[in-house]
Amino acid sequence: MQNLFVVTGGSRGIGAQIARQAARHYPVVITYRSRADEATKLVRDIEAAGGQAWAICADVGDEAAMTDAFAQIDALGSIAVLVNNAGVTGGTARVDEVRAETLAEVWRVNVTGAFIAAREAVRRMSTARGGAGGVIVNVSSAASVLGSAHTWVHYAASKGAMDTMTVGLAREVAREGIRVNAVRPGLIDTEIQRDRPPQLLAQMVAAIPMGRMGTAEEMAQTVLWLASPAASYVTGALLDARGGL
Ligand code: NAP
Repeated sequence: MQNLFVVTGGSRGIGAQIARQAARHYPVVITYRSRADEATKLVRDIEAAGGQAWAICADVGDEAAMTDAFAQIDALGSIAVLVNNAGVTGGTARVDEVRAETLAEVWRVNVTGAFIAAREAVRRMSTARGGAGGVIVNVSSAASVLGSAHTWVHYAASKGAMDTMTVGLAREVAREGIRVNAVRPGLIDTEIQRDRPPQLLAQMVAAIPMGRMGTAEEMAQTVLWLASPAASYVTGALLDARGGL
């Protein structure tokens, strides 16, 4: 069976770069929610470069869709690496304006989605369940530490939940051959930043000690390191990649 590298939300942005870099070493499976054209193009690009890739349409927060996606993945190989990358901001709102529907959607995708994918991966990877072990990398955010005041505290809080899950799950499965870590990107130049008012984004970039946004490629390299044997003694880590912010 092939050892697969699975990336949720791999159709564009950080997830797509993770998939492109991972495809140099592993057969890759990406999931996506709606951008089928971009997911298909990514698969074709990887194949054209000599790699193997598959794209599965599955909303990470939909349990039935995700269990079906993992059944499809089982037919392709065994999972060596899961990257919980899919995420949404819910748009900007102060806490005194935030709507319950926004909270529910952000939690459903960013928290429930990451838990469901991690659950399915652990069931397959755990040596206590007959698996061969593996690695889970969660794509959290600097927002979990900084709080995203005046922008999206709701999103920041969802990433705080992801950080806590990372530490707890890492300890839960540390003796079952599974490492679990998180990367906390700062401001990275992807479409998600278009959810933010441009003037606010410019002010925030000016405040970054390194004086620039990060790139999806840089985040992918960080994730790939955590997923690699070079990080064999690293688990439960929350790795900041935010240009000194
Ligand atoms: P992006 O460009 O908006 O891409 C988001 C990806 O997630 C897309 O592939 C999208 O699929 C997928 N997705 C969204 N909701 C989904 C759902 N319900 N089910 C399945 N897939 C879903 O965002 P990004 O900047 O690459 O962000 C990737 C991760 O990094 C997120 O978790 C984000 O919170 C985190 N992050 C980003 C930054 C940043 O500055 N960019 C900073 C810190 C953390 P479709 O294409 O099909 O819509």
